[in-house]
Amino acid sequence: MTHTEKGTQTVGSPDARGGTAAALTRARTDSPRPREWKTRFGPSGIHLFDRTAGLNVLLDEVTVESTRWSRAPRQVSVALTNRCDLACAHCYAPKSRDTLHFDTVTGWLNEFDTNGTLGVGFGGGEPTLYPRFTELCQHAACETRLSVSFTTHGHGIDRKMADGLRGSVHFIRVSMDGVKDTYESIRRRSFAILVEQLKVIQGISQFGVNVVVNKRTVGELDEVAEVAADSGAAELLLLPQEQTHRVSAVGAATMRELQRWVDGYDGSLKLCINEAHAAGFPTCDPLVAEHGLRAYAHIDATGTIKPTSYHATGVAVGEGGVLEALELLARDMREDRP
Ligand code: SF4
Repeated sequence: MTHTEKGTQTVGSPDARGGTAAALTRARTDSPRPREWKTRFGPSGIHLFDRTAGLNVLLDEVTVESTRWSRAPRQVSVALTNRCDLACAHCYAPKSRDTLHFDTVTGWLNEFDTNGTLGVGFGGGEPTLYPRFTELCQHAACETRLSVSFTTHGHGIDRKMADGLRGSVHFIRVSMDGVKDTYESIRRRSFAILVEQLKVIQGISQFGVNVVVNKRTVGELDEVAEVAADSGAAELLLLPQEQTHRVSAVGAATMRELQRWVDGYDGSLKLCINEAHAAGFPTCDPLVAEHGLRAYAHIDATGTIKPTSYHATGVAVGEGGVLEALELLARDMREDRP
């Protein structure tokens, strides 16, 4: 699976403001828990975020001076390790054993947190193979106000890890490319065991299912969505296949089939799609003014910060920290930053 929190867009929600207002009403009536709002300032206004409820409120009638905009990206992903025990053909993670140092990652998280980042997504490789993975999630949840998520193939989470992660992770993304034989031919793991694993994962936090969309999986989206919904998933993230040295990028015919499927979907899952392929889909993006490195950045397992995990090059994060590297990257990309 593409282990990244690469920018995604919600599909099929034409009115984002209406969605926000409805969520806020529910929050007031359903939850006795005091809100823990984190505040972010940007070109779209003041953004309030509650990581436990996953609740976003955008005060877009407020104009924030550019000198007060939060300096860090809204969302970051960190590839903790390139190690993985699977060998999917569509995988673009480098086949190396690069792994980030624990103290380095926690230092970056603190810097992101204090400069306005709202969430971190851990990936790889397979992040559950990271030697101190549970401890890292606990640290992120306790020592920062970041929302913590990770993307996983799901087969390495046992009861002990699940117990350790519960309360320290706010969302989990589980890879499921097709069902049954299709899944097993891609992942070389039992589909029945994956479905069992979803029960373990559901006991940790809210979760969603990621599906790499290609010629083989596009015809199984109904079944994928059904299994995901029956297992308690909240979201289905559609990831049109990218080219690797073993597979070609998704074709136009498959994209048309995907579009037809999205148009006809009337199930309960929230649909999201990788931002790079969102054109032509009925997406909503209330933070449209906050794009590029203001919205998202990725750090790979060698410690290089990039605009996305698909980019081959970026800027190595040095002793000056992530913001310094981000500024250099923005300069390379000719992004304006106040
Ligand atoms: S499970 Fe492993 S091999 Fe498959 S896509 Fe994810 S990182 Fe790559």
